[in-house]
This record gives sequence, C-alpha cells and structure tokens, in this order.
Amino acid sequence: MNLKRLVKKEVSRLRAYDAKEIPCRIKLDANESPYGFGPALKAAKTVLTNRYPDPDAARLKGLLSRSFGVKEANILQGNGSDELIYYLITTFGGPVLYPVPTFSMYGIIGRALGEETVEIPLDGEFDLDEDRMLRAVRKTKPKLIFLSSPNNPTGNCFSAGKILKIIEQSRGIVVVDEAYQPFASEEGFLPLLKDYENLVIMRTLSKIGLAALRLGFMVAEAGIVAEVNKVRLPFNVNSFSQAVAAAALKDRRGLQTSLRAIVSGRDLLFEGMEKIEGVRPHPSEANFVLFAVKDADKVYRSLLKKGILVRNLDGVVKGCLRVTVGTPRENAAFLKALAVIMSKERQIKEVA
Ligand code: PMP
Repeated sequence: MNLKRLVKKEVSRLRAYDAKEIPCRIKLDANESPYGFGPALKAAKTVLTNRYPDPDAARLKGLLSRSFGVKEANILQGNGSDELIYYLITTFGGPVLYPVPTFSMYGIIGRALGEETVEIPLDGEFDLDEDRMLRAVRKTKPKLIFLSSPNNPTGNCFSAGKILKIIEQSRGIVVVDEAYQPFASEEGFLPLLKDYENLVIMRTLSKIGLAALRLGFMVAEAGIVAEVNKVRLPFNVNSFSQAVAAAALKDRRGLQTSLRAIVSGRDLLFEGMEKIEGVRPHPSEANFVLFAVKDADKVYRSLLKKGILVRNLDGVVKGCLRVTVGTPRENAAFLKALAVIMSKERQIKEVA
C-alpha cells in the first residue's frame, strides 16, 4: 500500500493540531479555567448508558436559549466549537478568510476540507487591518470570514466598528468567534444578530470551566442553523456532556464568581508582568495574556524546568509566550518564577 498516494493531497500536506500533554506542576497553556464544576458531575448518574443521546440536545438548548436570550431555532450545538468550524466550512465552503495570527483551526479545517484559505495580517496593534481586510473581501469574495474577538492568541478584542464594516461589506457569512467573550469588558455581538442576516456568533463552554465536556454552540439566523444542521452528525454531543452541562449552567452564581476571579487574576498578572524588566505583556480581554520576551524559547524552557507550562508561540508571534490565568496561587508562582528567570537573564547579559 502506498499511503502517501492514498491520502488526499490536502490532508497529506497538513500538520496535526499540536495539543500534546506535557507533564507539569502548574498548567497554564491551554486557556482552560482553573475552576471546574465538580458537583454538576452528579447529573451524569442519570444517564441511561444503553440509549443514544438526545440528538437535538433539547434540554441544554432550552437552558442556553434562556441564558443568552435567543430562540432555540437560532442555536446549533457542537462537540466543542471546533466541530462547528468544521460544519460551517463543510456547509459553505471557501474561500475562508481570517486575520493572522489567530486561532489555528480555521486554517487547519479549511485546508483539510480542500478549501482556499486567505490570511490577512493584523496591524501593529493586533487589530484588524481594515483596508487590507476589505480589499481582500472584495477581491476573493470569501464564503466565510472568521473573526476571533477577543482574539486568540493576542487577547485583544478587534474594533467593533471594523467588524461591522466587514459584516456589512461581505456577501458571505461572517463568524464572530466569541470563545473568550465572557472575560471581555465590552458587550459582544449577540444583540446585533437581529440586524445582520450573515452574522454567526460562536461560543464555547470550554473556557468557563467545562472544557472536558466538549460543548460549543453557534447562534445565527434560523435558515443558517437549518443548513449547517444538515451536516451535523446526529449524536454529536454525548449524553454525559448534555446532562453535566445542564446542571453546571444552573449554577449561575458559581459561574459568575469564577469569571470575576479570572478577570481580576488576569489584570494582576498583566500588572505583575509589566513590572518585570524585559517582559512586555499585551493588554488582554481574555483569560490569558500574550507576552514578549527577548528569548522566548529559553524562557519557555526555564519556566517548564520550574514545573510551569505556558504556550510557546514563538513560531506564530515572534518572541511571544502565552500564559493562561490560573488560581491566585498559580498566578503568583508564575510571576515569581518569571521574575527570577528574567533577572538571571540580565545577570548573564551583564557578565557577557
Ligand atoms: N475558538 C477559539 C478562538 C479558541 O481559542 C478555541 C480553543 N482554543 C476554540 C474556538 C475551540 O474551543 P472548543 O473547546 O469549544 O472546541
């Protein structure tokens, strides 16, 4: 068998999403919440293991509909929002346009499905480059545009005015991926759904303490939901996730408390990093902070030696690492370790 010849060329050219488990003491690499919903696990006991899941996730959709003030007909559930990206590109095809750097799955899935991908660099402030984006929209006529706001890995929200111009000037679907919206200071785009028929909002429960469940959802005009629903696998969200998510979403107070703790932890992390010589943190509206250092690889390795795992993004944003907000203790341990590493770096430089 010649495997290389059998695999489709678009797939053979791909590199798998890099999500290895690296052993560590403090895990701050994957934009997870440090706070889970342990008590909600009790709901898993009610699951009938011999039965298929509810294909429509009706109970969960009901809860999401009430929590977000949108109709059930406007919601589509995914096995994580990753899966919804897959479904959206399967439904509409390419060209798929997105700014870079951004969440890598838009490009990976676009290419895996054999679609043309168009990448437009962000400006110097990591905001959308309005002129280049609009020119690319006119020239390439994308069927789909993905805008992650707040953006992963830069952490900032894109200017709302620029996003609106792109929605208004695009003939295709514009997906505003609001995975990190719960941590942002400004309101997201949900209230604008009624004004723009080509707008899709994506949300996930992964960043707010339920990453283990793999549950994302999109909100859009009912016609879009109905089309994308045709390519959805029938039982894409399993019974355990449906039950546990429904129980967790009822704990509104727990959710609010953890969000507040993460936002204040992020602001303290940012201020702490600003005080360390040689570290340049980028302002964040998400549950992580991107920061630049002179030798990102070396700082990454030194942190890991101290048991602290962050994300090395040197290959994506030159000289940058990304740290996820942890518990106050984890944040303090990270800041302390980073301060020690940076001061050692300075001493080495002074001696040299
Ligand atoms: N969108 C963005 C911007 C993300 O950063 C991520 C996760 N890293 C996702 C979507 C995927 O989230 P999920 O766990 O719901 O698949």
